[in-house]
Amino acid sequence: MTDLTGRVALITGASRGIGAAVAVELGRRGAQCILVARTQGGLEEIDDAIRAAGGLPATLLPLDLQKRAQDVDMLGPSIVARFGRLDILVHAAGVLSKLTPVAHIQPRDMEESLAVNLSAAWRLIRTCDPPLRAAPAGRAVVLTDAVASAPAAYWGLYGAAKAGMDHLVRCWAAEVATTPLRVNLADPGPVATQLRANAFPGEMPGTSRSPSEVAPAIADLCAETETRHGETIRLG
Ligand code: NAP
Repeated sequence: MTDLTGRVALITGASRGIGAAVAVELGRRGAQCILVARTQGGLEEIDDAIRAAGGLPATLLPLDLQKRAQDVDMLGPSIVARFGRLDILVHAAGVLSKLTPVAHIQPRDMEESLAVNLSAAWRLIRTCDPPLRAAPAGRAVVLTDAVASAPAAYWGLYGAAKAGMDHLVRCWAAEVATTPLRVNLADPGPVATQLRANAFPGEMPGTSRSPSEVAPAIADLCAETETRHGETIRLG
């Protein structure tokens, strides 16, 4: 297990599911975690779980990535002001919304999907790029989905935004290729979370892996020794 003592990690989607499990794993490995999601109670539970795993108390940032999108812009400078550095970004916040034919997508649902699944990544890259480049071994992992590169009926609302996000992240990776910063997309495959349950409400329990089963492989992508860059790493 890689020691992340002294590293500062920003994790979105950290109130539940995969982002929460990755936060606990990074905290267990010694990182100072900054947790972002809307649900204060969920963030507090994950802070407790990090401490129970032997990690440092986390910094909790309740934030709606859609309704308070502009607040994302200050994250990088505020983290540097408080901690002096940012080493790791794990962007796991995501929203399925609903499975629906493209012709039936409602404007409100498309606005949410574009805001959370696409624009939030752009804003996070904008604000985190300078400190991540300045870090001795900056690492960024952005959670994607296989459907982003394999369009399927009823998945357009979520998949189109994820495809745009993938494109943006791969462009960013190309731009920072000569720096120490390593940027990768991670597709976790089917994982038993609220998002998965929304997509497959009748799925039998135990069919998909748990968030804590996929978290170590995602945390490994944040290690100083990680050399992969600009890749889509499929964990499924
Ligand atoms: P999840 O359990 O539903 O968690 C989603 C996270 O995103 C929650 O922490 C949620 O927190 C946060 N979030 C949603 N809308 C937000 C908003 N407006 N502002 C701030 N935070 C928001 O989903 P998950 O399965 O762990 O998904 C994590 C990532 O993995 C996503 O990017 C997803 O696309 C990807 N993925 C998942 C699967 C799977 O099978 N589970 C497969 C492929 C890819 P709050 O509600 O507290 O804000």
